[in-house]
Amino acid sequence: MMPETATFEMHPNLRKFLSAQPKRLWIGGKWVEARSGKSFETCNPATGDALARVAEADRADVEEAVRAARKATEGPWSSLSPSERGKLLYRIAELLEKHAEELAQLESLDNGKTIREAQKGDLPLAVDLFRYYAGWPTKIHGETIPVSVPYLPGARFFHYTVREPVGVVGAIIPWNFPLLMAAERIAPALACGNTVILKPAEQTPLSALRLGEILEEAGLPEGVCNILPGFGPTAGRALAEHPGVDKITFTGSTEVGREIVKASAGNLKRISLELGGKSPNIVFADADLELAVKGMFMGIFYNQGQCCSAGSRVFVEKSCFDALLEKMVERAKTVRQGPGLDPKTQMGPLVSQEQLDRVAGYVESGKKEGAQLLCGGVRGEGALSKGYFFKPTVFAGVRDEMRIAQEEIFGPVATVLPFESFEEVVQRANGTAYGLVAGVWTQDIKRALRLAQVLQAGTVWINCYHFVDAAAPWGGYKQSGYGREKGQYAIDLYTQIKSVWVDLN
Ligand code: NAP
Ligand code: MG
Repeated sequence: MMPETATFEMHPNLRKFLSAQPKRLWIGGKWVEARSGKSFETCNPATGDALARVAEADRADVEEAVRAARKATEGPWSSLSPSERGKLLYRIAELLEKHAEELAQLESLDNGKTIREAQKGDLPLAVDLFRYYAGWPTKIHGETIPVSVPYLPGARFFHYTVREPVGVVGAIIPWNFPLLMAAERIAPALACGNTVILKPAEQTPLSALRLGEILEEAGLPEGVCNILPGFGPTAGRALAEHPGVDKITFTGSTEVGREIVKASAGNLKRISLELGGKSPNIVFADADLELAVKGMFMGIFYNQGQCCSAGSRVFVEKSCFDALLEKMVERAKTVRQGPGLDPKTQMGPLVSQEQLDRVAGYVESGKKEGAQLLCGGVRGEGALSKGYFFKPTVFAGVRDEMRIAQEEIFGPVATVLPFESFEEVVQRANGTAYGLVAGVWTQDIKRALRLAQVLQAGTVWINCYHFVDAAAPWGGYKQSGYGREKGQYAIDLYTQIKSVWVDLN
């Protein structure tokens, strides 16, 4: 079951982790089989071979986890001082950092991403999230508010607010940044004093399970975090429906986001949604064009294009369109694809056969609708044909109304579109159902800032792309979701405010 690549030496801890199978669920501080006894396989997308067998949670395990998480809200967790809670989060950050190489390898194996991206992106960002939120428990406080009662002139009151945890948080996350998404939910939820039930994506359950071991090692009280690999329609749905869950934080497709909203209606649980995107990356002719080409390229091809923030609609000002398109295609043709763990690899496989079929289907639809395929458009050949590789793909001759220009492909497929004026590009950039991010490349600062004002997007990157930080809010406009994760904004998601009146008369 161990994958072999010529240059790769597996970290001994990882070897140990993978040799202990099947992997179990983490509920109430214990590693347990699924109640049903069922398990499923997760594979290495570079080869399609099985990587590990994992216990499969369903409704009964969710029941158990909700009981454990509820109980934990009343146990030692609730009496831990903010300072102790902060120290615990800091300890988690330190341990994650200590195990970073092993976790980067695991992430690369289970998801397919390149080891370099896992080492330089996913891991340090996940560590930062715990470190950032370790500072918050001691800073989450209420206010005193000068209240008045109109029919009691001169009456005196003392009014204050308190921020309290929302309770049991269900986190349902996708497979594109498995550990990072887990950290993004667990760190702020714990900082605010909640307990968590995490359902990782079925394609990539392993780093979440290893994270569970790290949380255990850090000394998190039992039941405060529970990790339940399983499938969306069973475990995920049970979590979204459960009356004992107070909040769901979800990242994934807009389609499933809608399902979550419906499923949550029973107890009107709080919801935050981070959904898809079809983001514009806009290049003006006055930009630093070398930099812009890198930004166009990385914007769509980072993580094999499997980013909610992928810059999948590249708008290029007409006067430099041909030159930049040519550069983009040239680069795309020379990308070295291979297993993520091979340090020479520049682009790994897609996460699954399903994702490969989905991306290939969009390429077919683009061709059928008359778009011009300039490179890629096919899966990897030769040694790559066993895995879920898809060649970096660039389309030109695309009309805005085509499916490849409107729908989220979630793969390495760029549509490059010419534009002529500011007004035109704003209207077209805003012309989808989504509004997650936008990129702008120009040296004219006024133009850049005017664009930042009018683009309907939760994040605007000016002369850069794909930058994220634990402190910077993240979330979408329009159908890219609601609520803002990260930064101080996540404190609003994971707390509720109590308003207290004291009569001083
Ligand atoms: P998805 O179905 O939305 O999956 C996201 C998470 O939701 C997974 O943990 C999934 O479990 C779970 N889930 C699925 N159905 C559910 C339900 N009825 N109730 C509760 N939870 C449910 O996304 P996907 O199928 O992995 O990918 C499909 C498309 O979604 C992609 O092509 C892309 O367009 C989009 N996507 C967006 C993001 C993003 O970051 N915004 C991330 C991933 C995918 P399972 O893993 O078991 O299905
Ligand atoms: Mg896998």
